[in-house]
Amino acid sequence: MNFLEERILKDGIVKQGNVLKVDSFLNHQMDIELMDMIGKEFYRRFKDGGVTKVLTIEASGIGIACSVAREFGVPMIFAKKAKSINLDGEMYVAEVESFTHQNKNNVIVSKKFLSPTDRVLIIDDFLANGCALQGLISIAESSGATVVGLGIAIEKGFQIGGKIIRNLGYHLESLAIIESMDAENGTVQFKQSALV
Ligand code: 5GP
Repeated sequence: MNFLEERILKDGIVKQGNVLKVDSFLNHQMDIELMDMIGKEFYRRFKDGGVTKVLTIEASGIGIACSVAREFGVPMIFAKKAKSINLDGEMYVAEVESFTHQNKNNVIVSKKFLSPTDRVLIIDDFLANGCALQGLISIAESSGATVVGLGIAIEKGFQIGGKIIRNLGYHLESLAIIESMDAENGTVQFKQSALV
């Protein structure tokens, strides 16, 4: 079992509706040492990709993406949830359906921060149905940039997102892949750890 899987077992809380709460260490209160370990692990996995930008989505991807970007020594960009539909053409836009909030948002990235020479590593905290990642892929590719890969902290392997992204041919790496979880007794089962 790797460091993230151990932490999930220790501090993660399984909620009804296939939601895992990790807000005591990952996406509300954040354990910065853990963030650094995640950053280093994604660097190890993607270091040969010539990454020039790290891309995530607000809000909960930002902390992890910062740690990853620091390891690569490149800027981190986060897609913002657009408040207005009055977008001025200077933005790449994608529609993303939120798994946790069950609503749809336009997310935007300013055109000045992505270009065809960029090699983008996409990072997020969770992968469920894959909407967030597909939105980020669409934004990166609209700019002509290359998507080097996608790094996820926690993939819920029993939901469809991982299969969709891998079937599209992208290099997807998840640090913890949950095979099943049970809100009744609070148990979490992982797919075999890929971390040595
Ligand atoms: P997807 O777009 O893949 O369906 O969902 C990914 C997004 O939903 C992530 O950015 C994450 O913020 C949120 N999310 C999905 N599942 C969970 C979950 O079980 N727990 C938490 N805390 N967030 C989740």
